[in-house]
Amino acid sequence: MDPFGGPLQPNAPAYHPPVRILLLGGTAEARDLAARLTSADIPHVSSLAGRVSTPRLPFGSVRVGGFGGVEGLVAFMRDGGFSHLIDATHPFAATMSDHAAEASRVLGVPLIRLERPGWGDRSDAAIWHWESDLTQVRDRAEALGMRPFITSGRQTLHAFASWRLRTVLVRVVEPLAVQAPATWTVIEDRGPYQRADELALLQAHRIDVLITKDSGGSHTSAKLDAAAELGVPVVVLRRPPAAATATVVTNVDDCLTALREAPSEG
Ligand code: NAP
Repeated sequence: MDPFGGPLQPNAPAYHPPVRILLLGGTAEARDLAARLTSADIPHVSSLAGRVSTPRLPFGSVRVGGFGGVEGLVAFMRDGGFSHLIDATHPFAATMSDHAAEASRVLGVPLIRLERPGWGDRSDAAIWHWESDLTQVRDRAEALGMRPFITSGRQTLHAFASWRLRTVLVRVVEPLAVQAPATWTVIEDRGPYQRADELALLQAHRIDVLITKDSGGSHTSAKLDAAAELGVPVVVLRRPPAAATATVVTNVDDCLTALREAPSEG
């Protein structure tokens, strides 16, 4: 096996050294990838935004905090001698992904986008209400139910500010920065969640519409199973598109293959 986990080719370099990877993380996939890179001794640094008070830290070298926009990211990569950029941030971390695309263009460094598949292939996804922005999500949910369950994240709650007199259930990972309306119940939790617990939660709060973004993965998908079982309509925020210049992969193995095949100045 070569350092990226692929078959060794006789008489051919298995990858293009020197390799030094900046891995933009904050997801389970990024942690899995960091573990694989660490065990293969491939030089890399994982980067976290620093939003979560007790983050699950990846193996290997880690830095925390924003870079200070595209310029900061470019300077960080240049100073650190990074040869490859892997954007394994959450599918909805659109600003960081835009900055990664721009930094990769400025530096001429290959960009790999590791993004887990969305939930669109589920059989029940065909009857969900797919919307492209938060205003549409709110309007659609308003038309569908009176007791919404909002699971689209802390940063989306501004879109639901007009619901201050509604009975609303919200689930977030981190405490809210501002006080929620008195009619809202706010749960702090980060999963993973089980179907039986999600069923009980939806029933206990008599939820009649579920709001989510298309995060994908299995950690938070049990709410969708529960909604399907109870016949609760689901309103889904679509993902932002990936950068056209990125090599897009959906799992860690394919990411390692893309890394092995990516050009590098060496
Ligand atoms: P965002 O809106 O796309 O990014 C806002 C700013 O946060 C970026 O411009 C950057 O600051 C900083 N940032 C974001 N990700 C970073 C990273 N991995 N390393 C260093 N700086 C980072 O991001 P977000 O949606 O707030 O997500 C923040 C982090 O939480 C990401 O790592 C993401 O993977 C994770 N996460 C997000 C969600 C979600 O729903 N959005 C869900 C789970 C986990 P500068 O401009 O100063 O560089």
